[in-house]
Amino acid sequence: MGVVCKPYMPYLVANIDSFGSPMSENLKESYRLVETGLQRKHDDGTTTCDLCLWKCKLKHGQRGFCQAHVNRHGTLYNLSYGVISAIDIGPIEDKPVKHYQPGTKVMSVGSYGCNFRCGGCHNLDISWGVTALDDLAKGQSKAAWVPPEDLVTAALKHGVQGIAFTYSEPAVWLEYVIDVSRLAHEAGLYTVYVSNSFVTDEALELMAPYVDVLCSDIKSLSDDFYHDICPTAKVEQVLGSIKKAQELGIHVETRTNIIPTKNDDINELREIAQWIAGNLGKDSPWHITRFFPAYKLSDLPPTPSDIMQAAYAAAQDVGLQNSYVYDDKGCDCAESNLPVAEYLEGDPDKLNATLQCAASCCGDEGVLLKKYE
Ligand code: SF4
Ligand code: SF4
Repeated sequence: MGVVCKPYMPYLVANIDSFGSPMSENLKESYRLVETGLQRKHDDGTTTCDLCLWKCKLKHGQRGFCQAHVNRHGTLYNLSYGVISAIDIGPIEDKPVKHYQPGTKVMSVGSYGCNFRCGGCHNLDISWGVTALDDLAKGQSKAAWVPPEDLVTAALKHGVQGIAFTYSEPAVWLEYVIDVSRLAHEAGLYTVYVSNSFVTDEALELMAPYVDVLCSDIKSLSDDFYHDICPTAKVEQVLGSIKKAQELGIHVETRTNIIPTKNDDINELREIAQWIAGNLGKDSPWHITRFFPAYKLSDLPPTPSDIMQAAYAAAQDVGLQNSYVYDDKGCDCAESNLPVAEYLEGDPDKLNATLQCAASCCGDEGVLLKKYE
């Protein structure tokens, strides 16, 4: 065993309980690696991450598939705690969420990293975040670092009623999501979690007391579709996570982005509507969004209106009462956001200072991260 890090312990681990707590004081100091809340340490120094259903088993120096987690000397750390890639403010209906506090506004935030690799992702720099996370690993990042209480303060200052975690996959910075959400609840704000739902039951159980709304993709009912974007993912795992979230008391709304030739079979779309009606309830909201060409799927056309309308009609047929079609909406992207500093108080130079872990226990080897193999 080599050097033992003594990093900041987030709420999940330290169980600290209010504003102005040791957590806040500690975090105000500076960026650092944060021990993840769901991990199994093995005698051989490997660690299994139990945050998402990849369940990466990592050796010292290895990063998980999401690129945001690293094993250092047998302990798993999150690189991206408090690192914000994008912020925006808008109606909760834009997430899309229509049946939870309609007419209110949310501050949406994202970090870097995702456990999927969708061919049509519009958010590559943020969602996959490979370059940004490499920079963090090398101690060269100038990304915005925002302690939980500063984010909640910014949300209150801008008069929003909620905070949404979106753009990247929130499961891969769950410790920050929970710390912010807890403070947000204390301040009277609700929280929204926009996810692909490839997440473990343990992670859902941890977040359930602090997350009010899950807006989840149901991308397809085909294992082949999921296999293309995540070799280990199965439809039943994703559906099981969505159902579990609702059982845990989280308000759930689902979304299907219809991609021509990929998931536009009307029988499959009908089956999605049937699954929602049968498992989440006939009043459970389903959002049908349009695909816009991007990345590896740039050669496909935008989704024709007729298949979106056909999906809506199929939902009506099976008794789903709250389906919505969006001609102008695809993923919840972050492309046109203002710079993060526009929403936060304080010295912009400090906000974007070079991020090097303040624990300084890695020595000359640095954080030393190998990418997922
Ligand atoms: S992809 Fe990331 S969040 Fe998922 S199990 Fe691997 S390290 Fe954990
Ligand atoms: S579309 Fe969503 S789930 Fe897929 S890679 Fe992008 S952020 Fe991840």
